[in-house]
Amino acid sequence: MKEKSETSKSKDFDSFRTESSDSARNSSEFRHDQKSKEEKISDKEKQVAEKVSCADKQCPFHGTLSSRGRIFSGEIIKKFPRRIVIEFERTFYIKKYERYMRKKTRLHARLPACMQDVEVGDYVEIQECRPLSKIIHFVLIKVLRKRK
Ligand SMILES: [Zn+2]
Repeated sequence: MKEKSETSKSKDFDSFRTESSDSARNSSEFRHDQKSKEEKISDKEKQVAEKVSCADKQCPFHGTLSSRGRIFSGEIIKKFPRRIVIEFERTFYIKKYERYMRKKTRLHARLPACMQDVEVGDYVEIQECRPLSKIIHFVLIKVLRKRK
């Protein structure tokens, strides 16, 4: 009887150990999931952007334009006074040949007055907004990296 009780105890201990390890794993995962920092950084960026004076109505940070929806990132290939064109590669599967094909997508985005320092070749992020013209329904929100 004694032995049984001991085994049961050890089993309990084992189960406790596994549980504890699981909880540890969960906690580590939780630590890994702390991507709220990025959000904070973006908030900071927005605050910094707010400090820069900008009279552009169609600016996602200072104006009344709300950016929402899909986000794309790509390289600037053309720059105009109020518009940029970005290009990025995407792959899609062709069933007949059982292979992937690379295609390029070009999107036009509104260039706010406070972000005029971007250049052709920069890697930027754009977000969907209301249609501003026939071809523009995205707005520049972030510069990910400058041209090398
Ligand atoms: Zn602005």
